[in-house]
Amino acid sequence: MAGRYGFAQFFSRDKVKTFKPKKKFEQGTLKFNLHKQANASLSSGIDLKEVVRLPPQEDLNDWIAVHVVDFFNRINLLYGTICEYCTEETCTTMSGGPRYEYQWCDTDSVKYKRPTALPAPKYISLLMDWVESQINDENIFPVKVGVPFPKNYLQVVKKLLTRLYRVFVHVYIHHFDTLVALGAEAHVNTCYKHFYYFVVEYSLVDKKELEPLREMTEKMCL
Ligand code: ZN
Repeated sequence: MAGRYGFAQFFSRDKVKTFKPKKKFEQGTLKFNLHKQANASLSSGIDLKEVVRLPPQEDLNDWIAVHVVDFFNRINLLYGTICEYCTEETCTTMSGGPRYEYQWCDTDSVKYKRPTALPAPKYISLLMDWVESQINDENIFPVKVGVPFPKNYLQVVKKLLTRLYRVFVHVYIHHFDTLVALGAEAHVNTCYKHFYYFVVEYSLVDKKELEPLREMTEKMCL
C-alpha cells in the first residue's frame, strides 16, 4: 500500500518469532526513512538519550508515530521470547509484583466495558490486539501524505505507550530470570532504555505509571 507508513504489511508469523505479527514500514516512504534513521543511530554509537531527540526538519507527530510502531514491534518480539513461560497458571493476574495489578478495560468492546482482572497472557494478548488496531486506524495514524493527525492524537499515543509499558513491568518483575536464562537481558535492557528515554523526552507516560520499575530505572537510566 502506498502512503506514509506502509503499516499494512506483515511478516508472516512463521518467519519471525513474535507474539503478534510484526509491522513493517514500506520502503521508499517517509516513515521508512525515519524508521531507518532511528534504527541506524541505535546500532552505532548508542547514546539512547540523544537518539530520541527530534531530528531537525522532522515533524514531531511523524517521529512519534514511527517510534510507537517500532516499540510495538519490539515489545511484541520481547514478549514473544518469553510467552511460553507466561501462562494462565504461572501468571493468574496481570501484575507487576504484589503492589501493582492491572485490569483490562476497553470501552469499545462488549466484554470489558468495566475494568476486569485477567490472567497476564490474556491481558497482554488483548493489549497487543488493541494497540495494533489503533496503529492501523487511519483516523488516528493517517496513512496518506498531507492528511493531518487528529486532535486527540497525543492522547491516544499516551494511552498506547502507557499500556505497552505494562508489558515491560510484567516481564521484568515476573520473567526476569527467564530473560537472563535466554540471554535476552542486554537486548531487553536496551529496548527498555530507549522506550524510557523516549516517553520521558516527550512526556508521554505519567510518572505514576513508571513507578513499578522506578528503582530499576534509576539504576539503569539515570
Ligand atoms: Zn507472566
